[in-house]
Amino acid sequence: MPSQTSTFLDSSTALEHLKAYPRFDGLSVKELMDSQVHGGLTYNDFLLLPGKIDFPAGVVNTESRITRNVTLKTPFLSSPMDTVTEGEMAIALALLGGIGVIHHNQTAENQAAMVRAVKRHENGFITDPVVLSPTNSVEDVLDIKARLGFCGIPITDTGKLGGKLVGIVTSRDIQFRGPATPLTEVMVTNLVTAPQGITLPEANDILRDSKKGKLPIVDKGGCLVSLLARSDLLKNQSYPLASKNPVTKQLYAAAAIGTRPADRDRLNLLVEAGLDVVVLDSSQGNSTFQIEMLQWIKATHPKLDVIAGNVVTREQAASLIAAGADGLRVGMGSGSICITQEVMAVGRPQATAVYAVAEFANKFGVPVVADGGISNVGHIVKALALGAGAVMMGGLLAGTEEAPGEYFYHEGKRVKAYRGMGSLEAMEQGRPGGTITKVRGSATGSNKYPYPKKVETLENAATQRYFSENSAVKVAQGVSGDVQDKGSIKAFVPYLYAGLQHSFQDVGVRNVAELRKGVESGSVRFEMRTASAQVEGGVHGLNSYTKRLFSG
Ligand code: GDP
Ligand code: 5GP
Repeated sequence: MPSQTSTFLDSSTALEHLKAYPRFDGLSVKELMDSQVHGGLTYNDFLLLPGKIDFPAGVVNTESRITRNVTLKTPFLSSPMDTVTEGEMAIALALLGGIGVIHHNQTAENQAAMVRAVKRHENGFITDPVVLSPTNSVEDVLDIKARLGFCGIPITDTGKLGGKLVGIVTSRDIQFRGPATPLTEVMVTNLVTAPQGITLPEANDILRDSKKGKLPIVDKGGCLVSLLARSDLLKNQSYPLASKNPVTKQLYAAAAIGTRPADRDRLNLLVEAGLDVVVLDSSQGNSTFQIEMLQWIKATHPKLDVIAGNVVTREQAASLIAAGADGLRVGMGSGSICITQEVMAVGRPQATAVYAVAEFANKFGVPVVADGGISNVGHIVKALALGAGAVMMGGLLAGTEEAPGEYFYHEGKRVKAYRGMGSLEAMEQGRPGGTITKVRGSATGSNKYPYPKKVETLENAATQRYFSENSAVKVAQGVSGDVQDKGSIKAFVPYLYAGLQHSFQDVGVRNVAELRKGVESGSVRFEMRTASAQVEGGVHGLNSYTKRLFSG
């Protein structure tokens, strides 16, 4: 056979050849997003091209900022919706490295109680421990256990923090004792304590070695100044990604409010409960209501980070950045339950919206949260590649155990209710004279947290998000439905995280900063997907199949 090698280039020169003719495959982000050419894009309209793998997926770091001052280890937020985020979701998601935004379609007191539960869940030094006096009874301890979930209580002579420490009561001390038994009879007085001024690592060492459940910290006079709990050492070990304040070690708490005058009182309560991030919940954020609210918050609670929105254009973003926003929530009509684009003819395809706003806001150091339309791991990667600091998910998390409401069966499938906050059902909940549509189970109340019993008339938050004035006719901007059971987020969120790490590895970037840099410099490339490319990229040609997303 005649040799043809002379017609080919020498294989060992392939890399040099590539350098000599630097024409990259695919498109730069600017070319991809040139909406003059093809209109707005959704996440499904494009893909990232693979880069080079020279590191294991496990080293990928997904840490990212969601506001000027808050960084998360996993870039996941849950939506402030009454079928998605209450206390249980907020705690579980924060433990897993994200942050849950507690909805405001409930009384301010309920919402504040949920914020408090998040803040109390994990601690370093507990600087405001619940304290009792020797004259209190076993019944008081049981009451605290029922309301707050713990019963390791230090006892001081005054029954207050700052009083002289005289004992401690734990669950075992009150077992088999009658409710009226005074604590003097049951408390342990042989105490291991640590001195005020000790560092957290030193105190943790003492606690570890003491084999006790609690370590009271006392001043020179033996008066109680704070408390350390052994269970926090365990939580710290079990949840290394947890979203915590670096000093207090408390989980971050986020909650949504509206932009009406009454929301100022609501916010004051939430801040008192320890709120770290507030989300201004409007479907169209560029309004004088929101700008005034933003300015008021910045003047009144300067330490609180504010995520303003929603926005989808640079112009909207500019107004809110100028008014002091620490983060922006991007999305209009892209949510799985939304009908805004259909009804209002206003909105923007989500990928284009995220890119346009992030490209602008990132210049000012204001991170962007891509809200809505996330239905798989790939969408998260794409949102981050387009400049988002994190994604916000509603439908993807609504079927998990930690979302409010009970499971039920619909056409043979185990499901949970999921409804848009602009659905008539959500807008009418609690409205005087309105139909109270019951989400099966309770949309606003797991019994796990110490919610106040008082029920007051709600100024309906869902209505506020979608209508700033008192419209006589409510026009729905969302639907009400159900989503399939996804199990616990304790398995589902680690799947999203691991999926993200593998995707970054395929792209050839080790962290969000490298991804951004690659996208900006043009070394991370994109490709448009035709309709048939989308078919090809999905499962096709099978008679039947099972789609299991993860194991472990
Ligand atoms: P206990 O043994 O019944 O007190 O409960 P655990 O020690 O298992 O759990 C207590 C959890 O509640 C820890 O994560 C604490 O950080 C948290 N916590 C928050 N506030 C307080 C408090 O005032 N007292 C106690 N004992 N724990 C608190
Ligand atoms: P998903 O993750 O289900 O695709 O979208 C959740 C997001 O949709 C929420 O965070 C919120 O921004 C938005 N949303 C929630 N309820 C409604 C609604 O009734 N109508 C519209 N247009 N958007 C909604």
